Amino acid sequence: MSLEENIARVKENIARAAREAGRDPGEVALVAATKVQTSDTIRAAIAAGVGICGENRVQELTGHLEDGAYEGARVHFIGHLQTNKVKYVVGRVDLIESVGSLRLLEAVDRQAAKVGVVQDILLEVNIGREESKGGCLPEDLPDLARRAVEAQHVRLRGLMCIPPAAGAPGANVGYFQATRQFFVDIREKIGDNDTDIDCLSMGMSGDYEDAVREGATLVRVGTALFGPRPPLRP
Ligand SMILES: *Cc1c(COP(=O)(O)O)cnc(C)c1O
Repeated sequence: MSLEENIARVKENIARAAREAGRDPGEVALVAATKVQTSDTIRAAIAAGVGICGENRVQELTGHLEDGAYEGARVHFIGHLQTNKVKYVVGRVDLIESVGSLRLLEAVDRQAAKVGVVQDILLEVNIGREESKGGCLPEDLPDLARRAVEAQHVRLRGLMCIPPAAGAPGANVGYFQATRQFFVDIREKIGDNDTDIDCLSMGMSGDYEDAVREGATLVRVGTALFGPRPPLRP
């Protein structure tokens, strides 16, 4: 299958899953996870209808920005972000999806103040409590959300999660439901029904339809669009 066909198929699947859940398909956006892809592949994906690119690595983000590869699309940062690298990301992407600690939140807020922007962010929650994953633990989320709402130079837009690698089909539905409940609670209780809190990023190639049925507004899909990736360098 070509990239164009893959993009069309994934979008159809998203729309079908949304309708099955009684949702408006227009509420759900595809984020193409572009790690290891070249600037040319990214341009081709945008030409074929990808509206948002999600980058994992600061170095790849910087290279693609220098190439002008994202023209016509929005850019999200979805990977692990070290505090000493926030200067390469803040003010250069539309949304940072992976803020998972107070330390990183403060670094992003400080850098945004320095360059005179308000940076849109999601808080990443480690919903499966995995040692190997970033994101804050569920019990730390309310306090982190309060800090994010109070911070002057960030705007909290919602939550992101990366559940454990799904073994069986449907295995992550419970994690998606739990994340959605946190999202609703934060919007109602901490954001005071803040209409800015409108993004719930969950679901990847193996489970994005489940995520859409459970309320995702952003799904991050790589392999199902671009094919298998070579192993990442450590
Ligand atoms: C790579 C990646 C994805 C997409 O993963 P696939 O399984 O290839 O669809 C989604 N989210 C994050 C944070 C990623 O790093």
